[in-house]
Amino acid sequence: DLLTFDQFITHWAKERPDRVAMREDDRVMTYGDLDERTARVASALLAAGLQKGDRIAWIGKNSDLYFTLFYGAARAGIVMAPISWRLAPAEWAFIVNDTRAKIVFTGPGFEAAADQLAAKLDHAPRIIGAEAARAMIDDATRTDFAPSGPDDAVLQLYTSGTTGNPKGAVLTNTNLFALRKNSANLDMPYTQWEDDEAVLVAMPCAHIGGTGLGIMALAAGLPGVVLAEFNPDGVFDAVEHHGVTRFFIVPAALQMLLLHPRCASVDYSRLKYILYGAAPIPLDLLRQCIKMFGAQFIQAYGMTETTGTICMLPPEDHDPEGNKRMRSAGKPLPGVEIKILGPDGKEVPTGEVGEVVTRSSNNMQGYWNLPDATAKTMTADGWIHTGDAGYMDEDGYLYIHDRMKDMIISGGENVYPAEVESAIYGHPAVQEVAVIGIPDAKWGETVKAVVVPKPGMAVEEDDIIAWTRERIAAFKAPRSVDVIEALPRNASGKILRKDLRAPYWEGYE
Ligand code: ATP
Ligand code: MG
Repeated sequence: DLLTFDQFITHWAKERPDRVAMREDDRVMTYGDLDERTARVASALLAAGLQKGDRIAWIGKNSDLYFTLFYGAARAGIVMAPISWRLAPAEWAFIVNDTRAKIVFTGPGFEAAADQLAAKLDHAPRIIGAEAARAMIDDATRTDFAPSGPDDAVLQLYTSGTTGNPKGAVLTNTNLFALRKNSANLDMPYTQWEDDEAVLVAMPCAHIGGTGLGIMALAAGLPGVVLAEFNPDGVFDAVEHHGVTRFFIVPAALQMLLLHPRCASVDYSRLKYILYGAAPIPLDLLRQCIKMFGAQFIQAYGMTETTGTICMLPPEDHDPEGNKRMRSAGKPLPGVEIKILGPDGKEVPTGEVGEVVTRSSNNMQGYWNLPDATAKTMTADGWIHTGDAGYMDEDGYLYIHDRMKDMIISGGENVYPAEVESAIYGHPAVQEVAVIGIPDAKWGETVKAVVVPKPGMAVEEDDIIAWTRERIAAFKAPRSVDVIEALPRNASGKILRKDLRAPYWEGYE
């Protein structure tokens, strides 16, 4: 029964030593190589004095080196904390300090991080560049080590920092593998793997949508194709030339694919599934994607604290011809419990909106060094409060409205930005849109849309308001529209609504 990195790697190295485990550009590693190199990483880290439970960090783009270091450390129970390279050095330092990492590895091109961090750290980790790390692995001798167990921490993933400072979610072997195994028992084509498949790692490794896809390939014993960072050409090449059959990207990245001139002429014949999620998707964008790509679509809903996906909207519910389920985030995976709680903490009836709470083997151990935040998010009996507003229908499908925090209360009515954005998104002049509440003496808050127009197109306030009123209830339609060049987004591609709101709320909050 395979449940840990050590077990999976040992298993595939025995079963299929010559199968490609990982590819980055022209560099290829087999499962045999992966076993040898990760065992050397574990040996080298232990020889350097690190122990089970110690932290190491990675600052860099996606790389086969990152996965080798992470998997090697995980085999010995040393915890990897990947840090988003898109953050500023002061933000790197905040996270490195938070981890208390003994070693910080920097990826190719990030050598300068050592100097940029130096003055900002409150402890003195060793900082090792990419070349030195590769040399460390080349020169290491494989020694015996005690492998980590199912409940040992192996990965510390920081939340996206959409609502505040990022928090380190501590994840175990079980968190990373148990639910995948349950899901494999689902007798659905998309939970089964053919022998000739490959998985693309296209999202940043500091996010579960990046690191998690690498782990998906490992769990299936198939190749993981690593893109240093998301770019449409990289995705298209991986699909056309590297046999990629599945990838996960966020809605903002799907739109970048669609806008790319190459998009319509790519050969998608080997592509089977496109997984998307991590943020609400405008319905119109989803429809365009279904038309464009020959692949089947699967929506994933989850959070860092739940090791990613806990609900999935399967391909058969992606019927662009008006299927109401297209708005759903899907059904809980086997072994996942979901409840919807009202403001009084009691379960609400089916169909009523409340806070989504969840329990499964995917739930993190807790936030690193934040006992108060952990106690607020996780109950003693293991339920995680997601902070998302949603409801369940009679068929057990979950519908996510948006975050509780982003809900706009206008004249006593609840308005969820995602629904309003989805309505505005289909307007021909609109490239992107974010909806926020702004202060209003009469209504408390009113709905404002902040729109990025399509290149060369003009956006008229009255026109957007009228367009929205034709599609959703009048109280949800914006009262005002502002135009902006680009929406502020964080490293996971999520809209930073708190930054958008700030200028309007000056002197109010
Ligand atoms: P922070 O917790 O630091 O504020 P974050 O919540 O954005 O940041 P993540 O863990 O990356 O950090 O994101 C999880 C959140 O993403 C969920 O709570 C939910 O709001 C949103 N989300 C994930 N999947 C979906 C989906 N399929 N549809 C709508 N929203 C989603
Ligand atoms: Mg969150």
